[in-house]
Amino acid sequence: MPYNKNMYTTGYYKEPGPKLDEESPFESMLERFRFAAEVLELDEGMFQYLASPVKQVTVSIPIVMDSGDIRVFEGYRVIHNNLLGPSKGGIRYAPDVTLEEVNALAAWMTWKCAIVNVPFGGAKGGVRVDPKQLSDGELERLTRRYTANMLEVFGPDRDIPAPDMNTNEQIMAWVMDTYSMNAHKTETAVVTGKPIILGGSHGRKEATGRGVVTVTLAALNKMGILPNKCTVAVQGFGNVGSVSAKLMYEQGAKVVAISDITGGYYNENGIDIPEAMEYAKNHDNSLEGYSEAEKITNEELLQLECDVLIPAAKEDQINRENAGDINAKIIAEGANGPVTANADSILEDKGIMVVPDILANAGGVTVSYFEWVQDRQGYFWTEERVNRRLNRMMRNAFDNLFEVRNQYDITLRQAAYVFGINKVAMTLKLRGLYA
Ligand code: NAD
Repeated sequence: MPYNKNMYTTGYYKEPGPKLDEESPFESMLERFRFAAEVLELDEGMFQYLASPVKQVTVSIPIVMDSGDIRVFEGYRVIHNNLLGPSKGGIRYAPDVTLEEVNALAAWMTWKCAIVNVPFGGAKGGVRVDPKQLSDGELERLTRRYTANMLEVFGPDRDIPAPDMNTNEQIMAWVMDTYSMNAHKTETAVVTGKPIILGGSHGRKEATGRGVVTVTLAALNKMGILPNKCTVAVQGFGNVGSVSAKLMYEQGAKVVAISDITGGYYNENGIDIPEAMEYAKNHDNSLEGYSEAEKITNEELLQLECDVLIPAAKEDQINRENAGDINAKIIAEGANGPVTANADSILEDKGIMVVPDILANAGGVTVSYFEWVQDRQGYFWTEERVNRRLNRMMRNAFDNLFEVRNQYDITLRQAAYVFGINKVAMTLKLRGLYA
């Protein structure tokens, strides 16, 4: 069989942090962090501790370009917290990435890992580069030199990177190889999101969407709605959106609307999701021209009367302007930051249950944890086993947050932050401050 790189890679799995912009999800996160600190009556010292990163590393990355010239890029790695275990978080390549942004995203990872009960702290990395301007060779040299400069930071027991914006399986393979060459042994567990042939995990391609569906089913159950009697609208038909739609469809739900960048597609009798996926696959990953449904706008999709709305496209989709017009009973945030902080209270007043991103799309980081476990065991699980364990962990995380929600009479989103922050704070109290 001729060599084909695509045989060994799975393509589109990411563990991205939220994008930071105007109505920034990170600002929203900070607001929610402060609220949780108040609920927990954290003292000032503990607040300061949890708000401060453990370590911030900035490196220069010189590489020889194809032209023979030397260019120097700047790279970062921030470990926000490593009390629960080695830190975990993606590496993003972007021309405008800053240390502040990486700091913010690292903190976000700390809460996310704590919420789903994976034994990891939070970290994030970044390189200020536009990867589209680099050849494959330049990208490889950049990745290897960045990794070489981070040899004392990374490690299966210290800090474990993953893909994020503009980084992928191939880049993770180079990180793994560079680290391994210097360790004089193959260390697959130093990164996650690797190609399966290099120690990646089965099931991770669908992990985020699968996790979204597990928590959606749990939320439906709390509301006394049967999955096969519910209606669903999904915004975004990429990795997260299409998998969420497919798994809800398999549960017998009526998926009345889907959408992508080309607009929304509505059918009150329900859309045949496997067929729509096949259509998109054959049309350059686009739903444009899909004729089994009526064309609507993305804005109309968000306002449809339905039981479950899954925003799985991008941030800031439900905001102060349109939150009052949302007619779903449950919003399960597949995307990062699809609901802005100032929309939270509007949705709450309407009695809409929002399953927050920090829980709902944590299936990716959970299967990353499984990848790390499998690499360390040197024993690989079937996809069925991965899915079963993922469902169990996501379901437990939902139940934990639901309990906190009831205990403090707060929203599920607030409960997520209260739970995550409390877990890290409790761990610090038990471990004590060293020296
Ligand atoms: P993707 O690129 O595979 O898909 C994005 C989809 O959204 C595409 O169908 C695109 O056409 C559509 N879209 C873009 N802009 C739109 C708009 N304005 N209106 C409607 N649709 C629009 O991306 P993905 O991997 O599915 O990620 C989606 C979201 O989920 C992002 O916010 C990402 O950060 C978050 N997320 C993804 C993962 C993962 O494992 N892939 C994990 C955690 C969070």
